[in-house]
Amino acid sequence: MIPWSPLPDAPDFPASGFAQLADRIADLLGTRNDVVLVQAEAVVALEAAASSLGRPGLVALNVVTSLYGAWFGGWLRHAGATVIDLTAEPGRPITAQVVAEALETHDIGLLAMVHAESATGILNPLPEIMALAQKAGVMTVVDAVASFGGHPVPVDALGIDVAVIGPQKTMGGQAGCSAISISPRAWDVMNPAGEAPSILSLADLKAGWIDAGRGALPGTPSPIEFHALAATLDRIEAEGLTAMLTRHGVAAQAMRAGVAALGVMPWVAPEHASNLVTAGPVPEGYSADDLTRALPQGATMIAPGVGPAGERLVRLNHTGPRACPAVVLSELAAYAGALARLGETVDCGAGLAAAASVFEGA
Ligand SMILES: *Cc1c(COP(=O)(O)O)cnc(C)c1O
Repeated sequence: MIPWSPLPDAPDFPASGFAQLADRIADLLGTRNDVVLVQAEAVVALEAAASSLGRPGLVALNVVTSLYGAWFGGWLRHAGATVIDLTAEPGRPITAQVVAEALETHDIGLLAMVHAESATGILNPLPEIMALAQKAGVMTVVDAVASFGGHPVPVDALGIDVAVIGPQKTMGGQAGCSAISISPRAWDVMNPAGEAPSILSLADLKAGWIDAGRGALPGTPSPIEFHALAATLDRIEAEGLTAMLTRHGVAAQAMRAGVAALGVMPWVAPEHASNLVTAGPVPEGYSADDLTRALPQGATMIAPGVGPAGERLVRLNHTGPRACPAVVLSELAAYAGALARLGETVDCGAGLAAAASVFEGA
């Protein structure tokens, strides 16, 4: 007899359950748009959005504040679009003003951007940029994979045509299933389904799932991914999205206050920092790897930055289940310890006290 195991022997996911998952995600995103489920990590959902919307003749304005934005531009180009990359300074957010100028200069059909970056901890000014895009009548795609759950992503209120989310970051879930909300006008300009089904074709998903009455998903979905997504949504709904947003806001505020009280100049001003990750600067003459090597044993939650500014910063992660006092305080102490080992003068006690007092006041 082969012993039963919850992993390979997960119970079936009911065909009627997929539409419920999509509706629960739509509620959390504040949208009446269709939500489709993509059984793959969020990078695949982003590529699907780009290949479904990119076409010859389309001019796209693509905000680049990390690798993800750079990839999105590449996928749009691959689909035949003309892409104008709007690249921010390394490790900094884009400004609404730069976007406004680009929208005035070029005849843009689509604007794509990442909301908040887990790679560097920055926050792009989403509401301002969406307002500009709406005024210009431009279709919008937002990568909210990292930000959703840590910052409000009110899709309909902001007029986001296509929003991509994944459970594995702030939502605190598994990476195997992501979701995309799609406005009616985005469906209207979507590339049609091809001869053979493709995971990168959203029109295929519409034909095979939405137009077919939102029952079973096409193909052979892996039940365990959908059970995991359902459990993730259960947990978010039990906490409440508002409480979850507050928890991330408080954790970020505590971390930033703590870093400042250590005596360290913050990487970006608070209004440009995300609630997900705080970028901690690396002392002159050292690399991010030097700093992580100087961390106390077991402080594995502090990682070098990613991308062009990655060498200059480490990421203090307070995302998902880590947005809590125990993690913030221990990361702060570990960061202070590593800075001291590299010869910096830091006031660890003041840092911890400042962070603790933010939690106490919350
Ligand atoms: C993590 C992340 C993704 C998705 O990456 P995966 O490799 O699917 O985890 C996409 N965009 C942003 C901004 C992210 O932080």
